[in-house]
Amino acid sequence: MSNPDAAQGKAPVQKVEIDLEKEKAEILLRYRGLLRSIRGVRTPEDSRLIRKAFNIALEAHKDQRRKSGEPYIYHPIAVARICAEEIGLGTTSVVAALLHDTVEDTDLTLDDVKDLFGPTVATIIDGLTKISGMQFTTDSIQAENFRKVLLTLAQDVRVILVKLADRLHNMRTLDSMARDKQLKIASETLFLYAPLAHRLGLYNIKSELEDHSLRFKEPAIYEDINMRLKKGEAVRKRFISRFILPIREAMDKEGFAYEIKGRPKSVHSIYNKMLKKHVSFEEVYDVFAVRIIIDTRNELEKADCWKVYSIVTDYYQPNPDRLRDWISLPKANGYESLHTTVMSPGGRWVEVQIRSKRMDEIAEMGLAAHYRYKDDEEHTNALDNWLNRIREVLEEPGGNALDFVNDFKLNLFSDEIVVFTPNGEMRNLPSGATALDFAFDIHSQIGRQCIGAKVNHKLVPLSQPLKSGDQIEVITSKKQQPKEDWLTYVVTAKARHRIKQALRDQKRKLAVVGREAVQRQLRTWGAKVDNPNIAALVEHFRSSSPMDLYYQVARGKHVLETIQELQIRGGRVVLPKIKRNEEEQSLEEVVASIRGDKGAPLLIGDDLQKIDYQLSDCCNPIAGDDVFGFISVGEGIKIHRVNCPNAVQLMSNFAYRIVKARWKGKDTVEFLAGIRFSGIDDVGLVNKITTIISHEHNVNMRAISFESNDGIFAGKVMAYVHDTDHLNALMDKLKRVRGVRSVERVDH
Ligand code: MN
Repeated sequence: MSNPDAAQGKAPVQKVEIDLEKEKAEILLRYRGLLRSIRGVRTPEDSRLIRKAFNIALEAHKDQRRKSGEPYIYHPIAVARICAEEIGLGTTSVVAALLHDTVEDTDLTLDDVKDLFGPTVATIIDGLTKISGMQFTTDSIQAENFRKVLLTLAQDVRVILVKLADRLHNMRTLDSMARDKQLKIASETLFLYAPLAHRLGLYNIKSELEDHSLRFKEPAIYEDINMRLKKGEAVRKRFISRFILPIREAMDKEGFAYEIKGRPKSVHSIYNKMLKKHVSFEEVYDVFAVRIIIDTRNELEKADCWKVYSIVTDYYQPNPDRLRDWISLPKANGYESLHTTVMSPGGRWVEVQIRSKRMDEIAEMGLAAHYRYKDDEEHTNALDNWLNRIREVLEEPGGNALDFVNDFKLNLFSDEIVVFTPNGEMRNLPSGATALDFAFDIHSQIGRQCIGAKVNHKLVPLSQPLKSGDQIEVITSKKQQPKEDWLTYVVTAKARHRIKQALRDQKRKLAVVGREAVQRQLRTWGAKVDNPNIAALVEHFRSSSPMDLYYQVARGKHVLETIQELQIRGGRVVLPKIKRNEEEQSLEEVVASIRGDKGAPLLIGDDLQKIDYQLSDCCNPIAGDDVFGFISVGEGIKIHRVNCPNAVQLMSNFAYRIVKARWKGKDTVEFLAGIRFSGIDDVGLVNKITTIISHEHNVNMRAISFESNDGIFAGKVMAYVHDTDHLNALMDKLKRVRGVRSVERVDH
């Protein structure tokens, strides 16, 4: 069951005294809070529809409670409120949000909704019901579901917006779920919903989704970063207010109407940077950011933003490499802003974001804000282009759903570059896109026949990655055909899709030739040309389908003439039985037969366990780490840390191959762990460190390396430890050595 609501809906009512009168009052209070959160003017008709939706949802869910014991109706009210308050959506979405779980979890049908609220609301509810009915049993089904989620985008973007609100509320209230559900839902959120929110320009929702996910996946790390953030808050505020003082004075003098905000960073974004760049909390946290929002007329906003830029750089020196002008060239999701990083007198870099009020609303609420500025045609273009591109990919028939997801995710995550055609037409492509991607972006025919390209008038190979500002001229030849290896150097979903399609067509054409060869051979043998005979050949060659058999025959991989011990009896092809290998019993089956009980966790380090497992080297788990098992193809069970960089993908894509695991008998086993440290060089420091590791803690050192550079040393130790407590104690000791600045665990 993937849908947290459904699970919560079916929770048994807890045996506590419930004051129904008090609850009723609370429900009304929350409903009124929702009404107040709706922006803009509400017509009497709007009010009537919302009231009606509320009453119907209240009645439909009246016997249900969430896992926390609260009345179920709290959830749809909260989701509707997020839609109104945090995404800025209107009546239709609020109505849909109030009803979003009714069709799936109550007696209300889609037809009822259509009769009561019309086709638009019904379409949105239908989309939402489909998404939440997703089952995560195999990776390809998961992929197919992902595709479904995205297909709903093509119907009505509001489906995905309400779904994001739903997911956000579920993440906020995930505490009452079981631990394994929490991990799964958190992984799914990171895998799919946070990137989607990002792509739709809902930055606040994206950060909150990520922070909640981290809170469940890595509670200790989350708490640590969160606490340090809170501690640093006062210092940050004081610094920022001093920093903006001269800017304020100058802007007042120029007569600007404006607002300046300090911008706290999200826990997840700090964690991500620490992981990616191998830096400490302090180093990430050190870059402060302020946002200057000016209230100005649309036609003046660009000029005014640059005026503010000029004021800021009058006081502080800008870093020329860090200027980003997303006003002249907005991001594909519609984001517009002017970013610069300047040096403060204290020697600290400060990122300054300058934008108009309109731009700020778009940055905060994404898509929905666009709808409010609909009259502003030019600005909706970039976003519409992006949505169109998604639709284009989605509407392609056929293809493998899993490939599709991988292709699509590439485009979901990547940054954009802007390139130009020979006539100066602008094209947005994901960064890393090659000349071949560009060719397919222009037209699929041009892509298929592309033999090379001129970038800025210089001839380059198809695989050449493009840079922002490149001008590209594609060179084609009618004789060209897409090649298998093209797939290795395109990054856009569109190009991949077209190439695969062309390769499939080529394969199909070859298969026609192969089919004729097979039929001819059957006749030569004096056998009937029919399905049972073809099936016999498919089985003999272990082809996946007749089509595959034909293709391999045409390529000369299967040679029919050389089949040994072939007999023809009464027109039937009789082939010797091929013995089935015992090894073909799948690992899952082996695991299940040994473990018996499916829900029991795999015990690691237990001698009685007969299952082969390996500690994965991507995250190097040791006893005490929060871990899970993953049934790998051909390599037994791999044990990963829950915070392994690969875990999100594994858990959300291959949930059915995850095995619960925990440590046992930890004292008898030793694990190799790496510790990295750095500090100020000092005579005798190396000695102090090795002494601590080898004597004081009685650990076995396997390798140690030091490097010293201009008074700074960096070192790495590989040592055997019993578990995480042991490792942490060791690291704490090292931290206390004078001169040591940072100590951290090495993952790989
Ligand atoms: Mn829900």
